[in-house]
This record gives sequence, C-alpha cells and structure tokens, in this order.
Amino acid sequence: MTAPKGKLLVISGPSGVGKGTICARLLEKHPEMTFSVSATTRAPRAGEVHGVNYYFISHEEFAAAVEKGEFLEHAAHFNNRYGTLRSEVEQRLAAGQTVLLDIDTAGAMQVKDSGIDAVFIFLLPPSMEELQRRILGRGTEDAAAIAQRLEKAKSELALADAYDYRVVNHVVEDAVAEIEAILANH
Ligand code: 5GP
Repeated sequence: MTAPKGKLLVISGPSGVGKGTICARLLEKHPEMTFSVSATTRAPRAGEVHGVNYYFISHEEFAAAVEKGEFLEHAAHFNNRYGTLRSEVEQRLAAGQTVLLDIDTAGAMQVKDSGIDAVFIFLLPPSMEELQRRILGRGTEDAAAIAQRLEKAKSELALADAYDYRVVNHVVEDAVAEIEAILANH
C-alpha cells in the first residue's frame, strides 16, 4: 500500500495579521506538520536564522534557482524575491506530512494555477484599524517601509475571496482551532 499523500496548506494574509504566530503555534501543536522554509533575497531581521526562518540568498543565487526550475512558485515583494523550493515540499508530501506554506497572494495564485492539491486559507485581521495598529507596533521598520506595508496589506486583502477559507485572527488560539477544523475536513 502506498503511504497517504500529505496535505499542502497555503496560508496568506496581510503583513501584521499574525501569520508567523499562527504558523508557529500550528507547528508546535502538530508534529506531523512541517514548515516549508522559503528562499529570499531580503536581509535577515534580528533573530532570524538561515535555514529556519528563510534561506537567505543573493539575487544571483535566486535567479539561478529560478533558471533551474527549483521553485514551486516565486514572487517579488517590494525589492526582494521570495520563493518556495520544490525540495521543501515534494518529498515531504510524498512521505505523508502536512506542509505549511506562509506565502503572499501572488505565490498562492501560482500554487493554485499549478493544479497541486492544496488547502488555501487567508488570514484576516479583526479590523483595518487593528491591522494598522499591529503594523505600526512592530517597530522594526522606518516610516517609508511601514507605509509600503500598509499599501501592500490593502492589495493583499483584496484577494481574500480567491481563497478556500477566510479565518479572522482575533484570538490566536481560536484562529488555530478554526484552521485545525478545516484541515480535519480535508
Ligand atoms: P517578510 O519579509 O515579512 O518575511 O515576508 C513578506 C511576505 O512575503 C509575506 O507576505 C510572506 O508571506 C511572503 N513570503 C514569504 N515566503 C514566501 C515565498 O516563498 N513565496 C511567496 N510568494 N511569498 C512569500
């Protein structure tokens, strides 16, 4: 008998919605779930670790990986590029694991177009005001970067309807429970 195929879970949502916290909580609770570590050309933020949060690579390395077809999807975000490596996803799915992708809407639409079987969840903030508060409160970026993130957040929110499910992140544990219930039905 062949092993059951794992599930691909795609989670998107605007900057500041709490994707990182929710993904971390899901991974903590579910040993059968693994995180697909993306490659990015952006610089690491304080505390981020190569191979854990991202594979931090140069623009040249990224372009070479695109050329070799190593990405399942990739997208540009501000002046940087982000991509999901096939090597992070394909073997794990074949081994029956649930693979979690924290990617933007452009990347999620590529995964959808590729025809790969996946569950698409969009995380929504309780309100636009709360989202703005969270983005401002992060305190890791300058005013220009924050303004850019707010604009991008609005354009991301406009694509929420293209997802299979929308989950409001009001209270982390509730949002996690909702995602667990969605997965249990797939
Ligand atoms: P950040 O720079 O804040 O870590 O991430 C910025 C955005 O890039 C987030 O919306 C995140 O979900 C998205 N992102 C992270 N990894 C990938 C990826 O591999 N592919 C795509 N398309 N987006 C990604």
